[in-house]
Amino acid sequence: MAITLQASDLQARVATILRAAGSSDGEAAKVAANLVLANLSGHDSHGVGMVPRYVDAVLEGGLKPNTAVKVTLDAGALLALDGCRGYGQVVGEQAMQLAMDRAGQSGSCIFALAQAHHLGRIGHFAEMAVARGLVSIHFVNVLSRPVVAAWQGGDGRFGTNPCCIGVPLRGREPFVLDFATSRVAQGKMRVAHNQGKQVEPGTLIDEDGRPTTDPGVVVVPQAKGGYGALMPFGEHKGSGLAIACELLGGALTGGGTWHRKADNSRAVLNGMLTILIDPQRLGTADSFGQEALAFVDWLRQSPPSPGTPGVRLAGEPERAARAQRGREGIAVDEATWAEIVAAGAKVGAAV
Ligand code: NAD
Repeated sequence: MAITLQASDLQARVATILRAAGSSDGEAAKVAANLVLANLSGHDSHGVGMVPRYVDAVLEGGLKPNTAVKVTLDAGALLALDGCRGYGQVVGEQAMQLAMDRAGQSGSCIFALAQAHHLGRIGHFAEMAVARGLVSIHFVNVLSRPVVAAWQGGDGRFGTNPCCIGVPLRGREPFVLDFATSRVAQGKMRVAHNQGKQVEPGTLIDEDGRPTTDPGVVVVPQAKGGYGALMPFGEHKGSGLAIACELLGGALTGGGTWHRKADNSRAVLNGMLTILIDPQRLGTADSFGQEALAFVDWLRQSPPSPGTPGVRLAGEPERAARAQRGREGIAVDEATWAEIVAAGAKVGAAV
């Protein structure tokens, strides 16, 4: 049976495990808050279900608690940063703070962040930027397991490489487009597998490259010892965007690209290329504010296509989920909760 907890309760329990795994009080609280916010936003794939993996990664030495981002190049509005395998929730926020300050001074900032441990929901960073009136663009690669096939490829060659664009809208809630370039996030396959569910046709191929609806093909080793793969979204276009994320988030940042067979390492490393733009400094803030709103209003006048609720703007589903789960609590499925409890036991924390 699923367990349902209020966000604050879940956050406190997760923080207890992270502290027992070596994090300072501050770090444990920040990482736990970030994971719970992902659950609240409706993205269970990037929520507290990641804790077992983080604990394993710490115990293996692939994730380094209490690590700060290191500036490896400071050219004002161009920064190269090393996440040093620290918690992505921590080094990612540190990178954003630094870059948002620079964008405030220079009008824009580009940073290349290498070797961050799992950054979680990339939209979190875009939300930080739009709250300061900045446009925020992110290309991210994932060094973990080659779980996504290229368009017309028969096996996994890269990660779920997320892409995110945040745009502030004057006087309104922002546009925050934040998605994996696979048809679905890998974590959603873990959740579906834990819940014993099948997934939509067109999402997965098995270890022989044949279509399947069994999420287990990318979660547990298969008969021949290998894994299946997720399909990219949007055919050749989504596949191309995923490859762009590898080239920008992986190669250009210095974090590295994926070009080897899978290993059993539990660490998940992200490279992220981020571009921040201050519309005020660009001189187009007035027309930007007016034109963006005019366009959004025009979009909303579109009649709903039959059987749908009509046009929504990216960011709305997450805000709606936060309101609902904030009221009703967060349901964690039985298998995921058992994994979290077991992870706590590994580091001597009872939750
Ligand atoms: P998804 O398929 O749920 O898509 C989410 C995006 O689509 C959001 O911007 C949402 O607002 C928008 N959206 C959803 N329904 C909509 C509708 N009806 N109309 C308009 N917009 C709509 O997300 P996903 O691909 O499963 O990714 C989930 C999360 O996983 C993201 O936060 C992503 O950053 C994260 N992720 C992280 C990593 C990593 O390594 N750190 C890797 C992959 C994904």
